[in-house]
Amino acid sequence: MNALSINNLNLTYPNGFQAVKDISLEITNGMFGLLGPNGAGKSSLMKTIVGLQKPTSGTLFFNEVDLIKNPDYIKKNLGFLPQDFGVYPKISAYDLLEHIAILKGITNASQRKDQIRSLLDKVNLSGFAKKEVHTFSGGMKQRFGVAQALLGNPKIIIADEPTAGLDPEERNRFNTLLSEISRDVIVILSTHLVEDVRNLCSEMAVINNGQILRKGNPGKLITELEQKIWSKSIDKQELENYSSRYEIISRQLVERALHITVFSEETLQDFTPVNPLLEHVYFHSLTQTP
Ligand code: ADP
Repeated sequence: MNALSINNLNLTYPNGFQAVKDISLEITNGMFGLLGPNGAGKSSLMKTIVGLQKPTSGTLFFNEVDLIKNPDYIKKNLGFLPQDFGVYPKISAYDLLEHIAILKGITNASQRKDQIRSLLDKVNLSGFAKKEVHTFSGGMKQRFGVAQALLGNPKIIIADEPTAGLDPEERNRFNTLLSEISRDVIVILSTHLVEDVRNLCSEMAVINNGQILRKGNPGKLITELEQKIWSKSIDKQELENYSSRYEIISRQLVERALHITVFSEETLQDFTPVNPLLEHVYFHSLTQTP
């Protein structure tokens, strides 16, 4: 079992902006969803974990090794899966993996060959080993991304919005692959997509403004909202009135009526009770942003 232990982590950029504020998290094998809107601080936290930037204060341990004192330790054990790789060189998938494997320090040629073959097989790209990656579809490129992230048998994989730009079928296939992998390693999925977290992650945290607003098991967090979510269709002009009286967590225009969803511990007689969903957990957490 791998363990990433983050304690009271703070990061202030040289311009004085504090992007990570007192974050503490314990992450073990499986998929961990880091959910937050754009600008919440997800990349800042990820970059600090992988040692691309030094925290201003706090501690980071991976399998009991102090990552601030030994930043190379995480690099050796890390697979990174970015949103996209930008431009691909005009070489085949196999050759590109070979190149990356060498960069990752897999010096033994027969080991390299075995690993590349088995990874191409794992991500269902064996039939495309000789094709150039830039000719691949979005889903194939992302699966190729998984193969390169897995080279060198990492113990922790960081995936930054990996399903951006994939169609629903490709997204499903890709998500299944990620969750298979996460049996043996930590996969941190950084995303603003509530649905991906709901479908894949056993643990999650909502982040905004550099702070963790809520964390836990998605199912449990949903249960905590039972009998606390209410909805109602109102007239647009009434919104101000309702906003001042209720904690509105989301609003949606349905035809001409405004549909509001409200958080309330007390029963709201003239509202309809709603079965809570992870998106309610997310929106309710965001309203708690200090
Ligand atoms: P996310 O990944 O959740 O979209 P980021 O971590 O990229 O969020 O950004 C969080 C905040 O930190 C944003 O307000 C962003 O403008 C700011 N930020 C990111 N990088 C830097 C930097 N190098 N210097 C100063 N501010 C930064």
